Amino acid sequence: AELIHKLEQTIENIPDFPIPGIQFKDICPIFLQPKLYEEVIADLAEFSRGKIDVVCGIESRGYLFGIAIAVALDVPFVLIRKAGKLPPPFISEKYDLEYGSAEIEMKTGHLKEGQRVLIHDDLLATGGTTEAAAKLVAKQGAIPTQFSFLIDLKDLKGEERLSKFGAEVYSILNY
Ligand code: IMP
Repeated sequence: AELIHKLEQTIENIPDFPIPGIQFKDICPIFLQPKLYEEVIADLAEFSRGKIDVVCGIESRGYLFGIAIAVALDVPFVLIRKAGKLPPPFISEKYDLEYGSAEIEMKTGHLKEGQRVLIHDDLLATGGTTEAAAKLVAKQGAIPTQFSFLIDLKDLKGEERLSKFGAEVYSILNY
């Protein structure tokens, strides 16, 4: 409850960014408070302790917390990148955005079959990005076992969209 309160005080809400009608949550002020950052990592690591074999982080804010979670749990970290940045071999997954579409990619050969995977990102909105990430993981025979976020924008029903994976979902803050 203490952590939730501190984060609510720290995360900034920017109305009408990047387009009118969107309330943008800016998590960057967390990095101005190293102790708070440590508490966030400890909280997210606790959710996943003993339950996963690998952390996958989604570019780019998913890296800021994901890699620290992986180090805290002493498990490997694998990057999920926006299209066009990885050298081959990799696999891709397209998904729809509110306007247009996007594509994410992941190196093959870094996940092993049967590994339990935490997919982490800073924020869950519609769930499209995380769903595509889970498909990349599943395509390689690994198991999307947990999803974690700092923030869940509940109204956008991302959690429902992710329910088909039967994975545990956790977010520190719900808006
Ligand atoms: P989704 O695919 O609709 O769930 O959108 C989630 C992705 O969009 C995540 O990678 C977030 O980093 C990003 N995102 C969406 N809305 C916000 C926001 O308000 N603040 C920060 N990132 C956001």
